[in-house]
Amino acid sequence: MARSAGPAPLRVAVSGARGRAGREIVAALNADPGFVCAAEIEEGDDIAAALRSSSAQALVDFTTPAAGLGNALAATDAGVAPVVGTTGLGESAVARVREACAAAGVGGCVAANFSLGAVLLMWLSELASSYFERCEIIEAHHAGKIDAPSGTALRTAELMLAARDGRRFDHSRAERETLAGTRGGEFGGAAVHSVRLDGVVADQSVTFATAGQTLTIEHRTTSRAAFAPGVLLAVRAVLETGRFFDGLAEVLRLPANSAIRGLMSSSTA
Ligand code: NAP
Repeated sequence: MARSAGPAPLRVAVSGARGRAGREIVAALNADPGFVCAAEIEEGDDIAAALRSSSAQALVDFTTPAAGLGNALAATDAGVAPVVGTTGLGESAVARVREACAAAGVGGCVAANFSLGAVLLMWLSELASSYFERCEIIEAHHAGKIDAPSGTALRTAELMLAARDGRRFDHSRAERETLAGTRGGEFGGAAVHSVRLDGVVADQSVTFATAGQTLTIEHRTTSRAAFAPGVLLAVRAVLETGRFFDGLAEVLRLPANSAIRGLMSSSTA
């Protein structure tokens, strides 16, 4: 008896396909029978022609802030759903991609962080933040990273503070800091420490403390392949739902932490 064919693999073009992140996305698409890497697009290529000739359904963009918006709009013009990982586009560019998706009737996604573990770490930290008085974040990245702390560390601190309605953590200061900077930076009373070492990709731990206990949530990135599973999830979600997703947390359908806190307080009342 002939075996019935499964659903056709999703056809995905990648712009920035030979870049560090793009290479990982191409490899992940080629390794997954649910996807086909339909086109590898680089700077100077005719993106509209490449999308047309490859019959791509989605375009994954990991290029530069200067190119990302134009590539996403080229995708929507061609009726192709953009999934943008390029960082630094700015809020107005994200709004333009969202509007272009709506006008073209295609789904889309823009996410500054496609790492599943990093997004879950932020969400879990946000959830835990209301129950502890003290918090210290330690992030580690490769020695060449130009900014400190990392955007993820700052965003984690912002989300935690918002979840506490702005209530600061109780920051424990050394009475006498014999080496300047040893207690790290501070955001909303949470200490933030940055480590820069060759060999590290991107790690972050968030440690909370209250009377008699600590809780540590830790994420470690071992290679740039870390971004690929989140990108493939986003492509599938965008093509299956036709929706626009603002960040990977929306793709993962993480419930709002405020709703969960409400459930927890009513079940323990
Ligand atoms: P990269 O190694 O420099 O790769 C960028 C690639 O894009 C290069 O191959 C570049 O080609 C190509 N490119 C430049 N302009 C283009 C255009 N107009 N059309 C098509 N391709 C073009 O950089 P990367 O480390 O892969 O990072 C790329 C972007 O993704 C950055 O914004 C980074 O912050 C972001 N990123 C996001 C995540 C996330 O989770 N969202 C994860 C990793 C990286 P040439 O070298 O020939 O110019």
